[in-house]
Amino acid sequence: MYLFQRTVASPVTCTGVGVHSGKPVTLVVKPAPPNHGIKFVRTDLRDAPRIPALFRMVTDTSLATVLGSNGAIVSTVEHLMACFSGMAVDNALVEVDAYELPIMDGSAFPFADAVSRVGCVEQEARRCFFIIKKPLEIEEDDRSVSIYPASGYTISATIEYDHPLIGTQSRTVEVNTETFMNDISKARTFGFYHEYEYLKQHGLARGGSLDNTVVLDGSSILNEGGLRFDDEFVRHKILDCIGDFSLLGMPLLGRIVACKSGHLFNHRLLEALFANKECWETGFPELPQPAAKALAF
Ligand SMILES: [Zn+2]
Repeated sequence: MYLFQRTVASPVTCTGVGVHSGKPVTLVVKPAPPNHGIKFVRTDLRDAPRIPALFRMVTDTSLATVLGSNGAIVSTVEHLMACFSGMAVDNALVEVDAYELPIMDGSAFPFADAVSRVGCVEQEARRCFFIIKKPLEIEEDDRSVSIYPASGYTISATIEYDHPLIGTQSRTVEVNTETFMNDISKARTFGFYHEYEYLKQHGLARGGSLDNTVVLDGSSILNEGGLRFDDEFVRHKILDCIGDFSLLGMPLLGRIVACKSGHLFNHRLLEALFANKECWETGFPELPQPAAKALAF
């Protein structure tokens, strides 16, 4: 666990298309000073408005997570935000020249790979953590998402789909830079062919294709290469969950248990957290003490 804040060592550039808009977009992640947090800047708009990546800036979650401030928006931020959280990047200025972030291959790997290539630098300021003190659970029908006190950051997710290739999948991940890179970042977004057709007819998913979405029909996967992991679907749910909770604006110490949850439900837990202030506090975990003398022998 990193105790000091980090930023990228040098700028990182990614280009692609927005999955809903189909519009080309270039994104540049630039180093930022301590306590800056993650902020987006719309370089294509007059006065280049800045939008902090914080839960209170969320304006929509129906198809993608949209952040807005003073009339400017930035959309589909969840996979890049998951990358920052998973790779422990606390501070960055993200320049974008369109309203929707590039979907890349539908996972967070292209972002995580680009960040790991330039590397991160540790900064002089301590990381302030969002520390869960009491359990909080929300439940509706057969869906639930809960958060519990923990000494690290863990996510357990279960999904259930009435589809022969998905069925019930469960996975638990202790979120750190290594597990994020190896186990989570490569899991792609997925969808069903009939939904995709519907979205297209309504002028959405214009940039959606087999290059950035795992597409299932009644019994098979349409993508030529198949899956990257047998349980790629639940891994992607964990990726989305990391992105959603990154909007706390600080690293989390807690254990999340999500059953058939999604962006909307995760945001409801975040709302419930802000309404139940006795369930958490912010602070600095103890620095590891130097080993006791007796242990040196
Ligand atoms: Zn996703």
